[in-house]
Amino acid sequence: MCYAIPGRIESIENKTVVVDYFGEKKKAYNELDGLAIGDYIYAQGGYAIQKIPEDEAKSILAVWRETFFELQEVDLKLSRLDLNQQSVPAGFLKVLDKAAEGRKLTKDELLLLMKGKSQPALKLLFKTANFLRQKHHKNSCCVHGIIEISNDCRANCGYCGIAAGNQNINRYRLSGEQILEAARQAIEIHGFKALVLQSAEDSGYDIKELAEIIRKIKANWPALIFISFGEVGLDNLRILYDAGARGLLLRFETSNPQLYREVTAGKELTSRIAHLKRAYQLGYLVITGGLIGLPGQTEEDLLNDILLTKELHAEMYSFGPFIPHPQTPLAGYPSASVETVLKVSAISRIVDAANAKILVTTALETLDPAARREALLSGANSVMLNVTPLEYRPFYNIYPARAHETESIETQISDTIGLLMSLGRSPTDLSV
Ligand code: SF4
Repeated sequence: MCYAIPGRIESIENKTVVVDYFGEKKKAYNELDGLAIGDYIYAQGGYAIQKIPEDEAKSILAVWRETFFELQEVDLKLSRLDLNQQSVPAGFLKVLDKAAEGRKLTKDELLLLMKGKSQPALKLLFKTANFLRQKHHKNSCCVHGIIEISNDCRANCGYCGIAAGNQNINRYRLSGEQILEAARQAIEIHGFKALVLQSAEDSGYDIKELAEIIRKIKANWPALIFISFGEVGLDNLRILYDAGARGLLLRFETSNPQLYREVTAGKELTSRIAHLKRAYQLGYLVITGGLIGLPGQTEEDLLNDILLTKELHAEMYSFGPFIPHPQTPLAGYPSASVETVLKVSAISRIVDAANAKILVTTALETLDPAARREALLSGANSVMLNVTPLEYRPFYNIYPARAHETESIETQISDTIGLLMSLGRSPTDLSV
């Protein structure tokens, strides 16, 4: 099973290659040696990651050719937009009309959308986001894998079940060999082209050790590697980049500095933002976003979170619902609603229509398994599958009863592909 369609190189200029996918031209940054015009490659997140033999590429493309255009038809049908809706308040409709035309909305207009409550209005908001997603990204949907390498955390975020203060969980830390084996299986056996290595803020790993692991993955298997190790320090970001990491997943959780301080036991938002800015300067693809439904968070806070995500040049938006964990200080607060998460997804798409990849988080699926489909129809175009070894997955319980905790990788893949196909989406990463 492939999660990327091979493309043929049309031209090369310095480090940039132009790749043809069934007539569509996309640019990719090249760090591979010896590429020539006419070669076939896989690209992920705008990076050329693997050259593949012409025969192999042609046979994969032959299988894909018909399916590719059929899927695009299905997606096009599902993303049609009719703004002629009497049941939606006129002011709300006017803002959606402006968004659908691709005009920039003011903050007040975005806030009006965020405060929308009526079902017809929200339905139309979600449809507008889906229309914009299709217009700018066609039917591509990236499928990344994530390996949770450690749940041993030195931090004490009040919303997190694996925070240092929770004495009631089993801690684990995968060894270098275990991480390499999990990466091998994900890339070599299951065909993932992009992998996130995620851990709690674990002082038990030395930065050189993490860099060596990344270097070994890059030397052995073709994949785009994202790191998600929390705040590793600005200089260490460079060490990990030099080792081959090309993406950073680090949520700022909330753009409200006071709320951030309250829910992270006194940490400063400025430090997190500094990491995100340095990562972008270094050339990392940035995945960031926030937690939806934190106690005391306002609708304006949520809108500011979306705007900050854009300001930080996010390649991918990651917004998940707050779900209370019983062994945390925030145990007594309610979960965010699916509706609010869908609103954030849709407004993110409107704010950054042409560029954003928007992730459907596992936390949203935990709230409601059907919400993954709804999110994909509300502006989202990215999913992550958990490829952590099964025996460790239950221990990364940042919130309880996480979706896919006991599902094999094969089951997750077949369910995801089935869902994406039913929506006319290609499980690929063609966007640049
Ligand atoms: S959110 Fe991250 S940094 Fe905070 S306690 Fe949980 S694992 Fe640690």
